[in-house]
Amino acid sequence: MKAPELITDPAIWQARCSAARDGGARIALVTTMGFLHDGHLSLMREARARADAGGRRGLALASIFVNPTQFGPNEDLSRYPRDLEGDLAKCASAGIDWVLAPEDPNAMFPPDHQTWVTVERASQGLCGASRPGHFRGVATVVAKLFNLSRPHVALFGEKDFQQLAVIRAMARDLAMGVEIVGMPIVREPDGLARSSRNAYLSRDERARALSLSRALREAADAALRGERDAAALAARARARLDEAGLRVDYVEIVDPGSLAPVARAEAGSVMLVAAWAGATRLIDNLRLP
Ligand code: AMP
Repeated sequence: MKAPELITDPAIWQARCSAARDGGARIALVTTMGFLHDGHLSLMREARARADAGGRRGLALASIFVNPTQFGPNEDLSRYPRDLEGDLAKCASAGIDWVLAPEDPNAMFPPDHQTWVTVERASQGLCGASRPGHFRGVATVVAKLFNLSRPHVALFGEKDFQQLAVIRAMARDLAMGVEIVGMPIVREPDGLARSSRNAYLSRDERARALSLSRALREAADAALRGERDAAALAARARARLDEAGLRVDYVEIVDPGSLAPVARAEAGSVMLVAAWAGATRLIDNLRLP
């Protein structure tokens, strides 16, 4: 378990990645905001495997950067949890070679930064509706990390389902030449989707937060029993979240490709939920059977 090399200067990172790629290395990248958990580590282990898929050892890379441009003015940027030392040990356990962790946000977004990537359709609705500017910040930082790292493949979690759609659209529309891989949601044993933000939850909120995954499971069970009306399934899930004392942002059933709401839940339709447990906004989703 070799410690990954920590690089804080994006220019040095870029030079190193470029030289590696020009030298024939296959590069796999995982972008994160740190405070790593098993969800992140599943992406990193897959990055390790995919970097080495060509028969020679490639480069498995991770970035840790709390991107200020994806936080709204009233969001949790200043209190977002951080633990670089612990994160580096976890990256080592997942076989990551190099970690880019810029210390200063200005290293990624200097004061004269003025170029933004807007993915129009996929950013609308769902989290895009309650977090204006969020996906513009995400797409821009990921585009920049792609330019800095020149990955062949980049891995993203389906936990952030809309984010994955935004990044797929961006990579395709701008011909970035990066394969985008979506990875399944990693959950706690009781079903709660792993998230760095779970660290904010009090005991009581943690118990109530379980209703997100429970509401999704119940909807999947109802769909299996023949309930296919999307509005009825969503209403039931919403009632479940209300009952648990969560403040619901949205409950929607969408087509997995277009993210457009569906009237009838088909196999593969995705149910997405977002709700606040106290001051903590949580999201989850499930593909319906
Ligand atoms: P974040 O640090 O929250 O920006 O997440 C970095 C990456 O990890 C994103 O691609 C997320 O979708 C992914 N991720 C976060 N939580 C999970 C999870 N529970 N299961 C799988 N992937 C996750």
